[in-house]
Amino acid sequence: MTVSKKDMPNLLDKLIAEYQVIAPVKKDDYTVFAPIASGADAELGAGNTKLPAKEIFFPQSETLFSYRVDQEGAKLDAPLDDQKRALFGVRPCDARSVKLLDNVFDNDKFTDPYYMTRRENTVMVGIGCNSPSGTCFCTSVNSGPFDTTGLDLLLVDTGDAYVVEIVTEKGGALAQKLGLPVASDPDKAAADKVKQAAAVACRVNTDGLKDKLDVNFHAAIWDKIHEKCLGCGVCTYLCPTCHCFDIVDDAVDCNGCRVRNWDSCAFPLFTLHGSGHNPRTSNKERYRNRIMHKFKYFVDNSNEIACVGCGRCINNCPVNMDIRVVLEDIRGSEARLDSR
Ligand code: SF4
Ligand code: SF4
Repeated sequence: MTVSKKDMPNLLDKLIAEYQVIAPVKKDDYTVFAPIASGADAELGAGNTKLPAKEIFFPQSETLFSYRVDQEGAKLDAPLDDQKRALFGVRPCDARSVKLLDNVFDNDKFTDPYYMTRRENTVMVGIGCNSPSGTCFCTSVNSGPFDTTGLDLLLVDTGDAYVVEIVTEKGGALAQKLGLPVASDPDKAAADKVKQAAAVACRVNTDGLKDKLDVNFHAAIWDKIHEKCLGCGVCTYLCPTCHCFDIVDDAVDCNGCRVRNWDSCAFPLFTLHGSGHNPRTSNKERYRNRIMHKFKYFVDNSNEIACVGCGRCINNCPVNMDIRVVLEDIRGSEARLDSR
């Protein structure tokens, strides 16, 4: 199946008639995901968005329920967001990150109805990365510029057109509904050529990293590695896989509601106990947790690395912390550094 680039706005207009379509749009000198009112507004060729796609499923701040107590008793309102959405033009790393978040919000112990209702009502159409940026390292974390994990359809840019690959039944049904034409053999060959050319150099070697992290919780390397970090939390907020949150009751702004807000392990208050004790007393412990969570604890719990190599934390850190260098330093540290 192919769509010529000049027909893409019309295709998106068709989609808009049935779904809330969320696509990359230009904002200042970068792009962000936002609902579009016209297919012409989508900016599909601009690389990855500044903010990841996680907010569509897990908003930065969301009201879980509102409550009111009157003479008739307590009343609770907990509406779920079941808007039909198409997330269009999402890059493979971000699509993979959503699949990783599924492990957190839908597992043997818990199912989060807020997140899952949005997931179930969203179809994800991805676009492969012909020219990954210099800070991308998806191939180093079990992914790649044309990874289809988490996607329903994948678009491959072959110059004047997009070749459309069906990934799931949901994607197939959407393609049929939109009346997409079947891709010819030359179209498929052109797509394969693009994919081969885009193979990203493996910029981080993560071999053996988990073994190191298993034994070096108390290693001296943590004394050094965090030194530059300001604890601003930018890397966690922009990270597509970071998912920590805090829940607060608000009786002022919304007249009685419970709100979930993103939180960050980079902040000192994150682990502060009511007693005043804080088990992560300094930036060292907090930075260690960020790395441990992504490359050890998540692997222990879900058998996946909780990093998709999008490079956002590298591009946006105010003091140029580079997670690729940190990982290399840990890998290169002495074999067994867990002595206190
Ligand atoms: S963005 Fe940089 S300075 Fe800020 S918390 Fe992350 S690593 Fe530290
Ligand atoms: S840790 Fe950095 S590179 Fe990895 S997914 Fe998060 S923002 Fe992207």
